[in-house]
Amino acid sequence: MSIKAVVWGENVHDQTNRVVADIYPGGMHTCIADGLNEDARISATTATLQQSEHGLTEQRLKDTDVLLWWGHAAHGDVDDAIVERVVEHVWSGMGLILLHSSHFAKPFKRLMGTPCGLTWREAGERERLWVTSPNHPIAEDLPDHFELENEEMYGEPFSVPEPMDTVFISWFQGGEVFRSGLTYKRGAGSVFYFRPGHETYPTYHDTNIKKVLNNAVRWAYNPQQRRTNVTDAPNTPVENALETIEECGPKLHQDGEEGYK
Ligand code: ZN
Repeated sequence: MSIKAVVWGENVHDQTNRVVADIYPGGMHTCIADGLNEDARISATTATLQQSEHGLTEQRLKDTDVLLWWGHAAHGDVDDAIVERVVEHVWSGMGLILLHSSHFAKPFKRLMGTPCGLTWREAGERERLWVTSPNHPIAEDLPDHFELENEEMYGEPFSVPEPMDTVFISWFQGGEVFRSGLTYKRGAGSVFYFRPGHETYPTYHDTNIKKVLNNAVRWAYNPQQRRTNVTDAPNTPVENALETIEECGPKLHQDGEEGYK
């Protein structure tokens, strides 16, 4: 059984910008999925913003082990109900990988709870990624550092919560540094943010980048059954307590009443 990955692309500049279309003729999402499908352990398909329910129906997400998300120009066009659906699947155990300008994607901001801001410059600079967590599964089979000849710069401070692990730190030609590979746990779901991937550069054709994404999908995969009703908050009445207890003190709630949400 292979890991079922879905690569979600907003698919805007892929259609409207000549440079992007030349580098990614089938769209960035297709290139990323093709890279993942080079490994028989992963079975990757795609979904885009323009599809009905952005291609992310309840059934599709149920069947998805790991969702990869690339967004930039159209964060605001993503339906809030779909965002909530994605977030609940992460809490229930689905893996989520956020790529490049998805630092401002609605599901990432919702899961982080912080502004997720950064500094940036589009000048085709060299980016050098250093592996800062060498034994991490996402860094498997990578050199201690590798370079991308042309990339957009993202700089600190990156206003995200402190991660579980910082797997990569990037240095840019202009002097800035950035925590470019960060892991989180949200509910039962594993979340990975990975910085490179500006659409006017051939980043997703790079061998090391493909390796990182392959590693990240396998790291984020949760083989256990998806949890259900993760947003519920059930009451445990006195008579069901494990030890015998006697009710005392004033009460706000009636027996059997739903809690506030
Ligand atoms: Zn960019």
